[in-house]
Amino acid sequence: MDDPRLSERNSAGRDASSVVEVDASRRQVLLAGLAAMGGGLTLAGCSGAREPDVATPPRAVAQTRPVAPPPVDPRPTLPTVEPVVRILCEEVKPVGTVGAKIAVRSTGRWIRLQDRSGAGGTVLGGPIECTLIDGSWRIVPTGGVPFRIPAGAISVSVPPGESGPLSTRRGASWTPLGDAVDLVPTADQKGFDLVARLPMEVYLPGVLAKELYSNWSPATFRAQAVAARSFATCEAAHWRNRRHYDVTTGPDTQAWSGLVASGLAATATGETRGILLAWDRRVVPAYYSSCCGGLPAEARDAISQNPANEIAPLAGRSDRESCCDWASTYRWSVTIRTQLLGRRLAEWGRREGVADLAGFGAVRSMEVSAVGRHGRPVRFRVEDAGGRHVELRAERGRRALAFATEGFSGRLYSAFIEPRVAGDVVILDGRGHGHGVGLCQHGAEAMARRGRDAESILRRYYPGATLETGWT
Ligand SMILES: [Zn+2]
Repeated sequence: MDDPRLSERNSAGRDASSVVEVDASRRQVLLAGLAAMGGGLTLAGCSGAREPDVATPPRAVAQTRPVAPPPVDPRPTLPTVEPVVRILCEEVKPVGTVGAKIAVRSTGRWIRLQDRSGAGGTVLGGPIECTLIDGSWRIVPTGGVPFRIPAGAISVSVPPGESGPLSTRRGASWTPLGDAVDLVPTADQKGFDLVARLPMEVYLPGVLAKELYSNWSPATFRAQAVAARSFATCEAAHWRNRRHYDVTTGPDTQAWSGLVASGLAATATGETRGILLAWDRRVVPAYYSSCCGGLPAEARDAISQNPANEIAPLAGRSDRESCCDWASTYRWSVTIRTQLLGRRLAEWGRREGVADLAGFGAVRSMEVSAVGRHGRPVRFRVEDAGGRHVELRAERGRRALAFATEGFSGRLYSAFIEPRVAGDVVILDGRGHGHGVGLCQHGAEAMARRGRDAESILRRYYPGATLETGWT
């Protein structure tokens, strides 16, 4: 896969700085190596060159672009209890006339079945088979009588005193998913979503194992653990009463490979347990991407203009040192015929309801019409042969162009592109992989290989954020 790995994570994000003491023992681990730097907080990029003290909130941001404090800060305050993360693992579709089916087993004998409110409930012999068909659930326990229940959301869990985890079977193999899963019918009641519910610290190793290469440095894994924990904490808080899951297993939030109990991913998670990135005593939605291409993006440009994203740690690092030029996606190029690009953009426009694009013809010109504070494009202007033109904001433009080029040309890895028309083709010279906000995974690894620790990495990529302990 194109790793690190999976890049444009994160849904719409969800605000002055304080320092709260981090638990001493864990801070010891996280700070390992910092002492060797002389105990100061002066940081360095991947080359080791000295940079300004970024532990101080970046005044330049506040001075050059004052941002009025939002009336309500949508970010969660630091949780003191470990959150549960609800992970959308699979959308189970109906097969022929046999409905949408899944089997669930536990390592122990018994399995509890409840409606999702936790009311009622029955303990059944496992494995059990749950099939959504003809507007209701058909439940087949092992050694028991099959029965039907109404087609609402149901939960399957390991009863108290029994051993887990649960595993689900689709096809021939069983996948362990933790001690509780929800089965939530889709609106048409023909299929259902399989949602695993896991404590944050149990969830995180599966993120790290998928997001980073196994031969990368422990410091990168620790930095990634703190960023992923902070991001998932914000997602869980945001989605709690809005939908039945918090994250998916793909790049639209952050990748997840399933339960991982050992190895560097599990170790790094344990060593940073409960540690979160914070700003003004609230958690930072710590976006990250595979490769920034040498320049950071601001969350307000690349993610959304949600007030949660209008904070200094998400406004991009202050240094211009490029640490990720060793990534295979640092520079890339996509070429597509003007005719085809116009036709595909029109198709995307019809699909997405962008009227200006729906009738688009062959592309005549394409240019960056605005750049962000750090020099990355934030808007593109595309004109067709008939003189119609449209302005696309960076991320929306990337989605449109990714759709337009998919299957016809090389992959469009980011919105960091410099487009030009040459004859009957459009050439998109691109840099980096992902949105470029926050931590750059390849840059972090370059820093780690030069002896930088996790805290140095995080302070560089989330300027002004502090490390604080939520739960223990
Ligand atoms: Zn980078």
